[in-house]
Amino acid sequence: MSSDKQHKQTKSIRTQTPRSEQREHATPIYMTSSFVFDSAEHARALFANEEEGNVYSRYSNPTCDEFVQKITDMEGCEDGISTASGMAAVFVSMAGILEQGDHILVSRSLFGSTHQILTGIFPKWGISHTYVDVDRPDDWEAAITPDTRMIFVETPSNPGLDIIDLEWLGNLAEKHNLILNVDNCFATPVLQNPAEFGADLVVHSATKYIDGQGRAIGGVIAGKSRYIEELRFFARHSGPAMSPFNAWIFSKSLETLPVRMEKHCSNAAELTERLQGIPGIQKVKYPFHPDHPQYELARKQMKAGGGIVTITLEHGYEQASRFIDNLQMISISANLGDTRTIATHPASTTHSKLTEEERLNVGITPGLVRISVGLEHPDDIEQDIRQAVERSF
Ligand SMILES: *Cc1c(COP(=O)(O)O)cnc(C)c1O
Repeated sequence: MSSDKQHKQTKSIRTQTPRSEQREHATPIYMTSSFVFDSAEHARALFANEEEGNVYSRYSNPTCDEFVQKITDMEGCEDGISTASGMAAVFVSMAGILEQGDHILVSRSLFGSTHQILTGIFPKWGISHTYVDVDRPDDWEAAITPDTRMIFVETPSNPGLDIIDLEWLGNLAEKHNLILNVDNCFATPVLQNPAEFGADLVVHSATKYIDGQGRAIGGVIAGKSRYIEELRFFARHSGPAMSPFNAWIFSKSLETLPVRMEKHCSNAAELTERLQGIPGIQKVKYPFHPDHPQYELARKQMKAGGGIVTITLEHGYEQASRFIDNLQMISISANLGDTRTIATHPASTTHSKLTEEERLNVGITPGLVRISVGLEHPDDIEQDIRQAVERSF
């Protein structure tokens, strides 16, 4: 069983909910919508919260609980809940706490759908937001109003790979009594633990590195008990529950997340080196490369640079599309964090709903291509990129 003293790598494997009388070794899948009561009195006591136990899989299920327990342990948080997607996690983590009139401070570079929640959904409910730039720390404090309740950030950001100083942000949130909510999708619980720096909530899209094999959609929120309690109430009654089958996939996947991340990171670092100076590639960006403007900060708060590298092609959109069309092995897809290397052109796909100006503000130029570096041999990844760049002029 798991204990507090164990390393994260051990917790990702050994954390488990109690096994059944069958004494199964691996995680069982509890595909059941409800659970039976011993008696009318037992049912009453469960509903009255006088006894602990499973009632209905919309609010608790042992397979989902095991997945949540693992993430919570790996993030160093008190409690957590699983959700049907990463976006459900982002939405619940905000909507479950915020009220009409509240204001959120957000980093400008955000996942496309998070931007849509803030600009297309929350205004209908009277929840406002202000975007602030990562590289202008003074703007953050200036943007705080008496109505500000939460700070929401993504670091490293998707796809710009901007890094936000979590220690500084944790102190700012504490000083102004704000809830700090961090989307930790790119770093995973293996490379960065925002709770160490004072984050109250940490959200993940489990779809990405946590599954890591492109099979299932899911999300998870870990954090301080008093906030998770509020979110649990919201999720129990609004219903964005994770399927136990997906929870089983994610729980099994977590067992290999630390070793997979080692290889994603070493492949990405290796590729960053090998792509330097190739004619046609203007820029290669990676958090753990000295050319990254926040290299020192990345090294301070992350254990490794992650599995995403961005390249900027010299001749903009035309060259970027020809590059993508000439890839032979690398997949063209919007997903990331997969064993398979994936290329995405953010300006025309994931971030196409933003205006040109909004895109440029967060570093999404027409020539930018996001490479989610997979677990193939680095020679083969490099070779495919080289040949596609050569054919892209
Ligand atoms: C993919 C992603 C999400 C959304 O997750 P889904 O599982 O696709 O709903 C949120 N944040 C970041 C940073 C992502 O990359």
